[in-house]
Amino acid sequence: MGRKRNQGKARKAAKSKAREEAEESHRQQWLAELLEEAEEEEEEEEGEERGSDNNQPNYERQQSLAGCGAQMPPSEFFNTKCKHGLDLLSNADDTCFQFVHAFEDAYFYEASGANISVCLIAAEDATLDKFADVWDDSAKMEIAISFLLCTGTQYFLRGNYADARHSAVIARYFEQRIAVGLKQTQALVNWPKINEVYEGDVHTLVKFFRKRIPCSCLDAKYDEVKSITKMGVCYNPECSAPLGKVERSKTMYCSRCRCVTYCSPECQKADWKLHRPSCDE
Ligand SMILES: [Zn+2]
Ligand SMILES: [Zn+2]
Ligand SMILES: [Zn+2]
Ligand SMILES: [Zn+2]
Repeated sequence: MGRKRNQGKARKAAKSKAREEAEESHRQQWLAELLEEAEEEEEEEEGEERGSDNNQPNYERQQSLAGCGAQMPPSEFFNTKCKHGLDLLSNADDTCFQFVHAFEDAYFYEASGANISVCLIAAEDATLDKFADVWDDSAKMEIAISFLLCTGTQYFLRGNYADARHSAVIARYFEQRIAVGLKQTQALVNWPKINEVYEGDVHTLVKFFRKRIPCSCLDAKYDEVKSITKMGVCYNPECSAPLGKVERSKTMYCSRCRCVTYCSPECQKADWKLHRPSCDE
């Protein structure tokens, strides 16, 4: 019994090591696939919400969703009294809100199909001159982040995960820019960290916001979401996972056909002979 458990542990350790290596070597391909998938998911969500508005270009729909203007979202946007920390700021000046809106406008303008880093960098370029005082001041950047956390939390509570996700991505980018440019605690923007939010499921998102807001508004949602782990399948019949069931977020596609998923490059390799005929079709 004890031995079995140890073997299990060793196998787990080997598996997680393999996974780490897999994540490293296959990151690019993997990211590309996941990004695509995340975009598809968001399009679906939006389609459901917006119904017949589908003919409008993407950025216009996004803008109207974000309720742009240089002001705070209208008060009915906050159906609770809580502003999730934003109300605690005494020094929140309007420039920071204008900045966030300008950044979002530029970001969503790019968001039609482009890579997430392209969107963020383009939005930074678009706001760099006009809002230099915000970009150069970590306190102001923090206010901008609070604003995004507030609206993002509210989006999340309303079930608008697509916009909540964008708020989280931008907030995390600002955190990174503070760390790299202003506090210099980091040499480079950590793009995988940003992608983690962009690709993340509801669980990742709720964790992101809940960790950063001072109130308990997301506690119920967190408990609700925590219990759900989307399950995926590893198609390698020899896979060591019971019934080949693995967390969906940890699976990778066969990049040739995109019809099958694996838990690791090892499993993909092991299944290649079996899979090849159908992959070539
Ligand atoms: Zn709150
Ligand atoms: Zn497997
Ligand atoms: Zn296939
Ligand atoms: Zn294939």
